[in-house]
Amino acid sequence: LPCATPDFGPSPRRDTHGVAIGPVQVGGGAPVVVQSMTNTDTADVASTVKQVAELWRAGSEMVRVTVNTVEAAAAVPRIVDKLAMMGIEVPIIGDFHYNGHQLLTAEPACAEALAKYRINPGNVGFGKKKDSQFATLIELAIRHGKPVRIGANWGSLDQALATRLMDENAALAQPREAGEVLREALIRSALDSAARAEKIGLAADRIILSAKVSGVQELIAVYRELARRGRYALHLGLTEAGIGSKGIVASSAALAVLMQEGIGDTIRISLTPEPGQARSNEVIVAQELLQTMGLRAFTPMVTACPGCGRTTSTFFQELAQQVQNHVRAKMPEWKVTHPGAENLTLAVMGCVVNGPGESRHANIGISLPGTGEAPSAPVFEDGEKTVTLRGEHIAREFVGLIDDYVER
Ligand code: SF4
Repeated sequence: LPCATPDFGPSPRRDTHGVAIGPVQVGGGAPVVVQSMTNTDTADVASTVKQVAELWRAGSEMVRVTVNTVEAAAAVPRIVDKLAMMGIEVPIIGDFHYNGHQLLTAEPACAEALAKYRINPGNVGFGKKKDSQFATLIELAIRHGKPVRIGANWGSLDQALATRLMDENAALAQPREAGEVLREALIRSALDSAARAEKIGLAADRIILSAKVSGVQELIAVYRELARRGRYALHLGLTEAGIGSKGIVASSAALAVLMQEGIGDTIRISLTPEPGQARSNEVIVAQELLQTMGLRAFTPMVTACPGCGRTTSTFFQELAQQVQNHVRAKMPEWKVTHPGAENLTLAVMGCVVNGPGESRHANIGISLPGTGEAPSAPVFEDGEKTVTLRGEHIAREFVGLIDDYVER
């Protein structure tokens, strides 16, 4: 079979330093970790706790919060305490720009409560103050025993470094393209800052790197280079990915290529929520990306056909959605009572053309009657037809059969 070649599947994970973020390990061979970020005002403790809890329930294994003011910094320990009282032990990461050195100094309880600090080398400070402010941040991380993500970003590139590299490039006999030089500036910004942090005394296994851009091809090029030049654990994410399907497709395209090459230790899918859409949607997308690539399993995967002229009703689409919602809702319970349920595959198919075949490949599948077919729906379990459902209650009965399967 063509798929039975040694090239089948992702490349082995890149060898990186393992970084402990509270109880969660990133890199060092650990499974790729899903993380997300709140969009509440962190000073608003109740709203932030509510959203962190929502992201955690959706499956976010670490959650980042903005820490931009004294009020936000003062709120962090209260947020962490409230989450702990709710039984939510998710590591909280502080996102700092411009004034992180001041906030972490002024609010030691915040510095202690956070599981990791994210600092942006392009926004640590400017001019002569930059080096000392960066050193203060790293020294605070060492003092409090916290890891740091050095997160360079295309939108806030270190301008002094970019200008210097552009000038050096202009002096070359054969200058490189400006885009290539700016990509190099982004990579160097992350790597040089990491080297400096190590020199100050932060161990390599306390450092995670990221260098986010908003273009798919640029992101792939930047991360391949970051991976080639060091063993730091890498946080992957397409920054400003966009809204709706555009953000999902662009993030998946970029991250899938990199993860297929074994690059990436933690991911965030940065989606602009559509009006009324839950923030936690980005967590589900991240989980589905990892699961469809065969890298991790979170919830049973539902295979469903797209439907066509052979399905004149929307019943099978509704059933596919119902099954997806059901297994997603049951998974937190199954995780405890029936570990391994997340690896199951389910199929909901619209007619006899591909229905029985696809359903046989699943752990449990149903082939619904298409237009002109007998009003019956055979169910298959582990490749064998077990029962045929008929009548008005097919949906309820099939969901019951899924529960029975998991129970067994
Ligand atoms: Fe159409 Fe049937 Fe194929 Fe579904 S399985 S897409 S209903 S032919």
